[in-house]
This record gives sequence, C-alpha cells and structure tokens, in this order.
Amino acid sequence: MLPASALRGALRASLEMLLRGAGEPACSGGNGAEPGADPARGAADGCALDAGNPCKACRLFGSARAGMGPDRRRFSSLVLGDATAPADEIRTQRGAGLAVRRAQRTSAAGRRYEYRLVELYGTLLARGRLLDAELAPLLEAAARATQHIGGRRSRGFGRVELRLHWLEAETADAPELPRGDTAGIRLRLSSPAAIGTATSPPVWARAAAESADRTRGDAGAGAARENEHWRDTRREIPGSALRGAVGTALAEQLEDPASDPAFAALCDDLSGARFGFLYPVRGEGPPSGAAALAGPWPITARVCSVGGHDHGLFDTLLERVRAACALTPEEAERAWSARRSACPRCAAGLTRPLGTRRSVPSPRVRLHTRNRLDRAHGSAQPGAIFAQAWLDPDDDVLFEGTIRSIPAQSRALLARALGGPLSVGRGISLGHGQVEIEVFSPPSLEALEERGSHFDRALREQLDALGFDAGVAGDVVPITLLAPLVTEREDSDGREELAGALGLQPQWLVCARRFAVEGGFDQRSGRASPVWSVAAGSVYAARMPGGWRERSGDLERLEREGAGSRRHQGFGQLICFDPLILQTSIGEAWR
Ligand SMILES: [Zn+2]
Ligand SMILES: [Zn+2]
Repeated sequence: MLPASALRGALRASLEMLLRGAGEPACSGGNGAEPGADPARGAADGCALDAGNPCKACRLFGSARAGMGPDRRRFSSLVLGDATAPADEIRTQRGAGLAVRRAQRTSAAGRRYEYRLVELYGTLLARGRLLDAELAPLLEAAARATQHIGGRRSRGFGRVELRLHWLEAETADAPELPRGDTAGIRLRLSSPAAIGTATSPPVWARAAAESADRTRGDAGAGAARENEHWRDTRREIPGSALRGAVGTALAEQLEDPASDPAFAALCDDLSGARFGFLYPVRGEGPPSGAAALAGPWPITARVCSVGGHDHGLFDTLLERVRAACALTPEEAERAWSARRSACPRCAAGLTRPLGTRRSVPSPRVRLHTRNRLDRAHGSAQPGAIFAQAWLDPDDDVLFEGTIRSIPAQSRALLARALGGPLSVGRGISLGHGQVEIEVFSPPSLEALEERGSHFDRALREQLDALGFDAGVAGDVVPITLLAPLVTEREDSDGREELAGALGLQPQWLVCARRFAVEGGFDQRSGRASPVWSVAAGSVYAARMPGGWRERSGDLERLEREGAGSRRHQGFGQLICFDPLILQTSIGEAWR
C-alpha cells in the first residue's frame, strides 16, 4: 500500500509549489515559515502566513502546531486514508545500494543499504473526506500537479498520476438510543487505530521525562515507554477517545457548536454524559449476567501458569479477606496454609490471566515502521525512523462499554454523532482509527442487594471453614475498578477518593492495587497532561461496621457515579460485589 502520510506529503508539496508560483504565501510542510526562513518562530502558534491566517496549504493539510487552538475546529480539512490495491497487482522487489564518498569517489565503509521497491500494475485507491468544500479546487490542482511519491525520485522511481473522483456523500442513519440515560456502545474498527497518550513528540518527551521517575519498573505504564521513535497503543478505548470522537464529529456537523445548548449539556464536564472505557470482546454476542461485563480482570484473578485459561480461572480476593480477618497468629497461620498456591489440576504455579474479561488474549497489535522523508532532497531522513503499534481491524474483536448519564436534551444530538463518521486515536486525518458504532441496551447485572447476599454467603462459608468468627460477613464490601481511577492527590492509592465518594471512612481489609500514569491530550492546547492513577482491575475490600445494608443507597450511588477525577471520561467507574470474585474454585461455571 501507499501510506496516507506519503500521499498527503506529495500532494502538499505540489500545492505549496503551485501557491508559490502564483505568488501566494505557503509555508514549508506546515512549519509556518516561508522556505529558507527560520521555522522556529512560526511553528509554535501554527501557520499565520496568510495575513495572520494559516496559508492555504495549512488550511487543507493542517499545520505543524501542537494544538488546534481555541478558534479552530479541526487540525486538517482533508481526511485521506492509505492507498491500497488488490494484492495480486503488487509485487515487491529488493534493491541494494552503496553510499559513495563524494570527495574521494570511493565507497563509504559500512554504508551499504537495502531498499524495497513496490512494482505496481494497476491502480491504487485511497478514500477520503474533504471537510471544507471551499478547498476543493486546491485539492484538484494539487492532485493534477503531483507526479512523484516516495523516495529515490532522482532515480526515476515513484512516478504517479493522480485522479480525483468525487462521490456522493454517504449519509448514515442515526442509531436509536435505548430508553433511560445509559446506552451500551459496541465499536468496530474499520481502519487501524493507535490509541495512546497521543501527543506530539517534543511535548511528549518533556512529559515523559517528568513522569519517568514515578513509572520506572511499572509494566502497566505503557505511556512512559513511549518516545519519539516508538509509540505503543492501548488495547482498550478510553472514554476520553470516544468522547473526543463524538465532539469532533459534532463540530463537523453543527454550524455553531458553541451556541448549541444540547451540545453544551452533552459535553459538560460535571453534569454531561459519562463516556465509559470500551474494552475488547471476542466472539459471539454478549453472554448474560455477570459474564456480560467487558472489563479488566480483577488483579486478584489467577490462572494456571502452564495450562493458562484452559485449566480454569479463579479469584483470590476472598482468601485475602479471610486472611485479614485472622485475630491470632494461629488463625493467620491457618489462613496462610489454606490459601491456594497451585493449580488444582496440574499443580503448576499461578499467574495473572491474559487479556481482559471478554477478550483472551488481548486484541492483535501490529507494528508499522516508517522513515520520514527529507522534503528538500526527496530521500529518507537519517535518524527519522519510527515505529507505531496499531490495533488492527479484526472481525473477531469488538469494543464494548457504555455512555451513561446522557442528558435528555442531548439524546438526538448524541445519536447523530454516533451515526458517524467517527474516528478515534491518532492519525485521524490519515484515515486511521475509523470506527462504526452499534448502540444496544446494556445488560443489567443482578441488583446490588442480590450480589451482596451472594458475597456474604461465600465469605461466611470461607470463614466457617477455617473456624473463624463469621461475624464480619455482612460488613464487607468488595469494590473493583472497571477503569483507572484518577486520584486527586499524588500520594493517594484510591482509598481516599473511594471514602470521599462513599461519605464515610471504612476499615480497609484488602487493598490490591497497581499504579499507572494516564496520559491525556488536549487537542485545543496541544498539551499532554499525564496524571497519576490507580490501574483498572484494582480491588479493595472495605469493612463497614454496622453492615453494608445500612449504606446500600450510598453503594448504589458509588456504582453509578464512580470515584476520583475525570469521571466524564470514564475514569473511576467501579462495581461493588463484582460477581467474578466469587469464582473461587477452578472449573466452576461462571455465570
Ligand atoms: Zn502554512
Ligand atoms: Zn494447571
């Protein structure tokens, strides 16, 4: 295929040349400066060459500024994907070259290099959308003027002829939202998506340096592993990405989003809709009951280290609660030796399960490696090789979650946005991250009271089996994070936020948590703001003297509203009495 970045780069270079030929301002590659001028000045605030406005090339293709700015609605007016052709029309061929030292006219030692050529018989097709109809003549002109794509132009490679065909705009039907204020969302990728702590490299480098100390050694903190040359992707779609996609779609569709009350109500940080995290699900439609939850495994869950999920999965929270209830050293010893430390089927050790609750293993990720082109020479830029991990579209994997607290007045607007086109993650103007959304009525779990009763009974059995006082059963509430919890203070491990949301200070029997740094990228300011968070899947067990039934209203509110900061982006979503933690014996059917 011909990557969208190469296609856009070639189109842009042609347009800049045409504009300069016509005496119009045009910066170089979106850097905000005329060719030869110092680009350092223009880049930070974006291009302003056209009497304070972006030059025409920047209006069509976007400029290199980090943020969108308060007055702009999009980075680029052109969404243009990769150009592809049927596989049988493409052949690749390897070539080799030797770099030559000009002065001595000898070959430079160690400078042998290889390249790969694509031989093409037929036509490559790229699809895109132009978001600003006024710019159509510019795109036409750029396409006509483009004759080369890719490197090694001086050798005569990469000659192309581009033709534009305008298609009828496709209008999608807005899906119907289920009744109530919660909609189940099922998302399917239709192009590769990179979901990360999206940010431009210089900004990220600074942010990574700031957070590196805190994240060292934490495997969960994928964010800190990223740098200019390597970018990972999340295996789930955070609420912020879904919310951003909806916001961008509406900015495209509405004349003046800022003055639309339904838009303001939908996007209000405090009273607006809560866009939840979407977790991968594999296989057929959703099972019922507890198994319908698409979310992270509790970090107390274990599988066999040899047989994996085939030998069954069970949870260790009850064992930990039981151990925390020991009153004497003898009881502690009994609880310790009664714990499960090996697979009952094959006696191998235990390990954490793979993937997430409904996707074992995690969705497939592919690595793409690219080399930036040096525009001036039309050759590969030394040192500018970079790799990006992508979630591939996969017929077998969907992403599921919810949008909750949808304001009644915004329902029609949200439905319209969900009808598409929608894109998530990085490289949206390169056609990446395109998604299709299906809305459904989310399956409801058993009522909290019911789940609580099951848990009480299981805990009582566990305590009785060890001869412990079973009086605490009825006081203990397990809380599982279904999304990361953004803490308000850096030294908090989430307990403070949970206690605050509950309005009481319980006794914490178990606190099984991990930490991560959540990125966040504000498209307007172009700044990343990494924040400290407690990882999804963390589990707490709170003891409420007097019994949890006294506080069941508070617990229901906690489940509904979550805890911690940035809840409109799905952070801090949790469940009390997670049915999965009753899965204490291997092989037991899990409802
Ligand atoms: Zn410009
Ligand atoms: Zn086993």
